[in-house]
Amino acid sequence: MAANKKLLVLPGDGIGPEVMREVRRVIDWMSRRRAVSFELEDGLVGGAAIDAEGTPCSDATVEKARNADAVLFGSVGGPKWDGLPFEQRPELGILRLRKELGLFANLRPAKVQDPLADASSLKADLVRGLDIMIVRESTGGIYFGEPRGIETMPDGKRRGIDTEVYTEDEIARVARVAFDLAKKRGGKLCSVEKANVMQSGRLWRAVVGEIGRAEYPEVELTHMYADNCAMQLASRPKQFDVIVASNLFGDLLSDLAAALTGSLGMLPSATLGAVGADGRRAALYEPVHGSAPDITGKGIANPCAQLLSFAMLLRWSFDMDEDATLIEQAVEKVLAGGLRTADIMQPGMARIGTSVMGEAVLREL
Ligand code: ATP
Ligand code: MG
Repeated sequence: MAANKKLLVLPGDGIGPEVMREVRRVIDWMSRRRAVSFELEDGLVGGAAIDAEGTPCSDATVEKARNADAVLFGSVGGPKWDGLPFEQRPELGILRLRKELGLFANLRPAKVQDPLADASSLKADLVRGLDIMIVRESTGGIYFGEPRGIETMPDGKRRGIDTEVYTEDEIARVARVAFDLAKKRGGKLCSVEKANVMQSGRLWRAVVGEIGRAEYPEVELTHMYADNCAMQLASRPKQFDVIVASNLFGDLLSDLAAALTGSLGMLPSATLGAVGADGRRAALYEPVHGSAPDITGKGIANPCAQLLSFAMLLRWSFDMDEDATLIEQAVEKVLAGGLRTADIMQPGMARIGTSVMGEAVLREL
């Protein structure tokens, strides 16, 4: 039972508030029909926060996020704030939250809903039934390692420097998240690096292997070089169950996996932190898509990625598997019934907008 679970809702900018409205309707339904009570709080982030508070993520929002059991995030950014200096961009709102909450494991499922298999740019039989989870390390690696920067050498020419550093502990904690997931799912984990040419990759392979042998003997662990993994994902994606990779490789591979599904408007994600002394794990859930300025205000955004992000939240942060499954099944049934928002439109299907899609999901629930 989920009584007294604290949920912070940060709709953000663009289509964020539009798709979040549909989640609020599902939450209302849950409170009425399933006697679930959340403690809901709203907050500002991104451009909306810049307009109201002069900063993309205020201390007050960080505080609210720290006090919540989970954060449901929409999306940030848009043309209105494009002219701002780099340090004041709306996107810094989500970066600050990830950093302050220590969210080091980014979970990106790439799942192809059966009725949408034909919508993929690839052959339908290649991706039909595809259901993989990519775990990307998200607070370390080459995006943060020192030294970094652009410097001028003695001969007057410039050089750009990035450094990939991973400590044993950073690798171990994200590996454990991935192993735990593999245990709950198909029992297979593929760890990805380039141990052939990178020292951080050598350590990555060694540490993941040690943890696998010592703590997860029941999970079938394989190691793959990142370049080969990209090729395997594009040619035979269904061989994978859970993939764990560094910040850089996970970034690339999860976008590739998202493209395989052919439907950005359908993909949720979660970012998890460490389990604290109080037994709680900081977690933020958000759709893979961004603020979609090109369709903002038109009422045509697909709310499914945000709804499925909420389902992930229920499953991972609130232990509400049954309710999560209900929402996922409701989305599947709506698709099977032939309703489509513009982004996943197929010949012969009925084209609907954001709120009609939300209503259809509610009806299935
Ligand atoms: P960001 O930098 O925040 O990732 P972006 O501009 O790179 O943003 P999106 O905002 O995700 O990417 O938009 C990419 C394209 O996908 C746009 O054409 C947008 O309209 C479309 N799109 C994204 N999300 C949805 C959605 N939920 N429903 C329909 N179309 C969407
Ligand atoms: Mg983008």
